[in-house]
Amino acid sequence: MIQKIVTKEELYKLLNYLLQDFEVIGPKELTNRGIFYETIKNPQDLYLGEGFTTEPVKKLFLNPSEWFFKCQYKDSKNSLEEIALTKTKRIIIGVRPCETKGLELLDKVYNSEYKDEFYVNNRNRTVIIGLSCAKPDRNCFCTSMGGSNVESQGTDAILFDRDGKFILEIITDKGKEILGSIGNEPSEEEKKHWQQDKEKRKDLVKTKIKAPEDLDKVFEDPYWEQVSKSCLSCGICTFLCPTCHCFDLVDEQRRRLRCYDGCAFVDFTLQASGENPRPTKKERYRQRVFHKFDYFKKNFGENLCVGCGRCIRYCPVKIDISEIVDKAPV
Ligand code: SF4
Ligand code: SF4
Repeated sequence: MIQKIVTKEELYKLLNYLLQDFEVIGPKELTNRGIFYETIKNPQDLYLGEGFTTEPVKKLFLNPSEWFFKCQYKDSKNSLEEIALTKTKRIIIGVRPCETKGLELLDKVYNSEYKDEFYVNNRNRTVIIGLSCAKPDRNCFCTSMGGSNVESQGTDAILFDRDGKFILEIITDKGKEILGSIGNEPSEEEKKHWQQDKEKRKDLVKTKIKAPEDLDKVFEDPYWEQVSKSCLSCGICTFLCPTCHCFDLVDEQRRRLRCYDGCAFVDFTLQASGENPRPTKKERYRQRVFHKFDYFKKNFGENLCVGCGRCIRYCPVKIDISEIVDKAPV
């Protein structure tokens, strides 16, 4: 790992130069809307403050809706046209550590034994520059999910805002190629202070939970009915979650579309016969928790949650998954 001290001006100047060859995407504050990942034309427009983006970075790798192919019927013949993969190289800057950990979890599904060519193409054409969190809020519980607000897991490089400058840690060769030319190496004294500061920042994540080892034995517990009572089945939690990845396939006007779907929706498991194995909120919310904290762990060895807090922050009725998991009657 290479450590550098970089001024904001140096970083913006470099990004300006990189705009010639890369699409640069990063958080941008939109009036009356919040912070969203946007394509950046002027690096000064980047939001590299302490607020969080509403949507996760997932949407830049797994599109909310994506055409797979088109069919045509012409001159008594059927033909199939595949959708070309985007080749543009891109840099995504300002991605929080929980989100890059989320991408590593999505890799287990979309880029391991089975490879989804759209997702893999998006992964391969992207350099990720992370941004550490110095002000996690009370909804964040990343450190309880094996993550951290300061570590560089899943990034090519990571920035730490400190005293009006950035500490830059370069992790991968891709990161070195893009960022290796800027900044100065810190002195040994500065490196020591920085390490101490980093340790202190980890303590800023105050919400600590304990995810149960095995939820199986409480599958039939009335707890799931109680905790899901106020749920509106709106699906916000699934759409904004950096790790939820369920989708639907729709054929429309001779085109096949993949679009996000979510276990919170009443028709998610509705079958053509009219039968629905998850007819009430109890079964649907239980499925959400079990998928994240039981089934995924059994299949892939980790919880499918990075503790980003989005589903708590944006749930219209303030359902708190961290509390529900922590208090599960195991
Ligand atoms: S965001 Fe809240 S209300 Fe909406 S589906 Fe999720 S838990 Fe239910
Ligand atoms: S379940 Fe909630 S806290 Fe966990 S990763 Fe998804 S949105 Fe974040």
